[in-house]
Amino acid sequence: MPYRDRIEVSFEAGHRLLHYQGKCASPHGHSFRAEVILEGDALDELGLLVDFGDAKHAIREWVETHWDHGFLVSSDDEALLGALCSIPEAKVYRFDAENPSTERMARKLHDVASDAFPRQRVTVRIWESTAQYAEYSGETR
Ligand SMILES: [Zn+2]
Repeated sequence: MPYRDRIEVSFEAGHRLLHYQGKCASPHGHSFRAEVILEGDALDELGLLVDFGDAKHAIREWVETHWDHGFLVSSDDEALLGALCSIPEAKVYRFDAENPSTERMARKLHDVASDAFPRQRVTVRIWESTAQYAEYSGETR
């Protein structure tokens, strides 16, 4: 697809990997960076693939509502859910019976962006540090 627009949203969040052997089993946080890439074959009458403002608003609003300054937790993680739910101010986002890995975060945000921009092909990268990201495009290559 010849046209490609890219927006970026940064956020802070915590998670941990259930049943993982290693330091990611401990609740911890990252300064995440989400890249959303929208691709398409055609521009609108204004010459845009998408309006950058609309794209950034849609993604930023979802991330701020659900993930920013929150904890991403498997619904199977009873110990962590119990601890977090004892804190009235805690923001908790549940992944349904699966670990809140960076890969699954990329898949979730891909689904959100695909709903917001159904005419574009969507790829999402979630950077959990400056050195590593997970990418999801909804395609098998
Ligand atoms: Zn982590």
